[in-house]
Amino acid sequence: MKYRSTLRRSPEVSLREAVLRGSAPDGGLYMPVEMPRLPADFQGRLAKLSFQEIAREVGALFTGDEVPPQILRKIVAEAFNFPVPLVTLSERLHILELFHGPTLAFKDFGARFMARLMEYFVQESGNQLTVIVATSGDTGSAVAQAFLGLPGIRVVILYPAGRVSVAQEKQLTTLGQNITALELAGSFDDCQRLAKQSLVDPELAARLTLTSANSINIGRLIPQIFYYFHAVSQLRLPEIPAVFAVPSGNFGNLTGGLLAKRIGLRVPQFIATTNANDVFPEFLRSGNMIPRASRHTISNAMDVGNPSNFARIVDLYDNDLQAIRHDIWGCSFSDEETLRVMHDVELRHQYVLDPHTAVGVLGWQSYAKQNPAATQGIVLATAHPAKFAETVARATGLRPEMPERLAAFLGRPKKSIPFPNRFAQLQEFLLSTNS
Ligand SMILES: *Cc1c(COP(=O)(O)O)cnc(C)c1O
Repeated sequence: MKYRSTLRRSPEVSLREAVLRGSAPDGGLYMPVEMPRLPADFQGRLAKLSFQEIAREVGALFTGDEVPPQILRKIVAEAFNFPVPLVTLSERLHILELFHGPTLAFKDFGARFMARLMEYFVQESGNQLTVIVATSGDTGSAVAQAFLGLPGIRVVILYPAGRVSVAQEKQLTTLGQNITALELAGSFDDCQRLAKQSLVDPELAARLTLTSANSINIGRLIPQIFYYFHAVSQLRLPEIPAVFAVPSGNFGNLTGGLLAKRIGLRVPQFIATTNANDVFPEFLRSGNMIPRASRHTISNAMDVGNPSNFARIVDLYDNDLQAIRHDIWGCSFSDEETLRVMHDVELRHQYVLDPHTAVGVLGWQSYAKQNPAATQGIVLATAHPAKFAETVARATGLRPEMPERLAAFLGRPKKSIPFPNRFAQLQEFLLSTNS
């Protein structure tokens, strides 16, 4: 399977190289050179397939002959060892719960699959791999959990001292084993700058195999295709067309859906729903993408003012705005609307939404009002409500129960290395600790 850059100014590469590099040398994002297609009988068989069977069959289209079937089977079994239920709230509204992984958010899908792909590719080469991640909180914990205990890989996390929540810090610093947390005397931007600098440093490149685990890696995107098929496979009335509402920030999740449609999933439309960071819905309206600084909202994992996967979306549609509008319907909502729908859904259905999923439900409601044709909606639930307990309490008066796997972290001792905001120190640390 060959991958190329969205900017088309770098050579085509194998999946292995695309995954170990992250982004292309010209600064573009990797996409398949040729879009695969599912066999014609796939949709007919779908209802009988388990999540793992879907993941193996769809995954094989993107891994090609680089990952033997028995390896892909093992990667899928280890990465997706948690349930992915579709919960029906009303005749037309379903919620796909993507938050049953170890860090209670959908990012576990991408991070766990990518980690195991990297493990396989690096084992083949016999090198030790160093993964460096800068985090403001949540991405770091998903990535660290995903790589925990994988042989041949060590993870170095950079996080800003004093600027992550207690629960987030515990998730980053209590894992041990092959995960090291550096507590940087600086901001998140400083963390990101140091991580980027280390990835282009010639001295490090000569002596280490260094990669980043950022969200634009194609290895994180591929598994985000699987659950769209899984959702449709669970519908009780599959003959009624189903649209997906996708609460979006960097638009990786939505891009997974668009790829699912491209390879054969029957979906009439996707609802791209955002908080006040509405540059993508604005693009759909005006045809212009105008990035801007992000605004702080209660659905903070979607506070993105310059979505990184925009490049993939326009690439997928060959820059054809009409074609993009045909497949994607956009809308955005305020924090007040988000709190209100959390309250209403709890009252009406006794179902507790986290603020990100709530933005998804708002998107479906708005779409359903304006498109009265007989459709049903599947909202992607991207985080467990217990991760945003304060906001849930504010909206509903209820305190969501903290799942065991989140509570367990809070009792463990923090192990981090206080670290100066200087590249020379980071360079020395990476070289001296490489075994
Ligand atoms: C990352 C994240 C999103 C946004 O996903 P994108 O792929 O960046 O659009 C939505 N909700 C939660 C809880 C997230 O962590």
